Amino acid sequence: MTNEKRIPLVAEERNEIGEQVPLARERVKLPQFQFIHTFCEQGNARDSTRLVYAVKIMIYDVTVPITNTMPIWPGDPPVELVPMSHESRNKTHIVNLTAIAMGSHTGTHIDAPFHMIKSGKRLHEFSLEILVGKATVFEVPGVRSIRRADLEGFDWTSVERVLFKTDNSAHWWDGKFYEEFVYLDAGGAEFLVERGVRLVGIDYLSIDKFRSDAHPAHFIFLTKNILILEGLNLSAVPGGQYTLYALPLKLEDADGAPARVILVN
Ligand SMILES: [Zn+2]
Repeated sequence: MTNEKRIPLVAEERNEIGEQVPLARERVKLPQFQFIHTFCEQGNARDSTRLVYAVKIMIYDVTVPITNTMPIWPGDPPVELVPMSHESRNKTHIVNLTAIAMGSHTGTHIDAPFHMIKSGKRLHEFSLEILVGKATVFEVPGVRSIRRADLEGFDWTSVERVLFKTDNSAHWWDGKFYEEFVYLDAGGAEFLVERGVRLVGIDYLSIDKFRSDAHPAHFIFLTKNILILEGLNLSAVPGGQYTLYALPLKLEDADGAPARVILVN
C-alpha cells in the first residue's frame, strides 16, 4: 500500500514476561490489523543470553464496509441503515440500535447454488469447513476477463480455495458501481473445476460479466456446489497463501448472504 505509515518503535515495548524487547527498528502500519506475537526462549545457559524473536500475524480484512452509499448491483434493494434509539426504562441512558434493510448479495457475500438453480442447495446446507481454510490469492492485473490462458501459468498444487485480485479492487474507493469490472469467463471457470477447487472468490460484485444473461461462471460452479465469494476488496493483500475465514450471516434457507471475510498469514 502506498498510504502505509511508518511509526517508530516504542522504546518501552515489552514481551509477555515483561522484558524489554527490541522488536524492530520500525513498524509498518497498514490499514489492516497487525498483531505481533513475541516469544522467548531460554538461550545458552553458559552466556545466559536469551533468544527473543517476533512473529508477525497479519489479518487482512477483505470485507467492504456496509453503508447507505456503498455500490450495489443495479436493481438490487438499496442498503438502508436507519439509526434508531429510545430511552432506557429507568431513563438513565439512551439505547441505540439500527434498522437494517438490504439484499442478501450486498457487498462482500457468498453465493449459494439456490441463487441461480431452482433446486440448488441453500447456504446453510454447506459446512463451514469449506469457508475456513487454506486459500491462495492470485493476482491477475491488466485484464478485462480471466481466461483459461491467464490461469494455466499459476501453480495449482493443492489449491482448494482461490481468490482473484484484479484491477477491480481499486474501484471500491469511489463509491460508484463499476460496470466494466473484471470477470471470469466460462473457459476459466471450467479450468478451476478441473483443478478441483471448492471455493472461488473475486473482487467485485459478480464473477460473471456485467449484463451477462446466461451467467456461465455461476452455473459452472453452482451446479457443482462450488461456493462463490464475491465483493472482496483485495487492494491491500499481496498474492500468496493465507488462511481464509469467510463467515456468512446465518440466514436460514439463504440464496446467499453477506459475510465478514478475513485472510490471515
Ligand atoms: Zn453472484
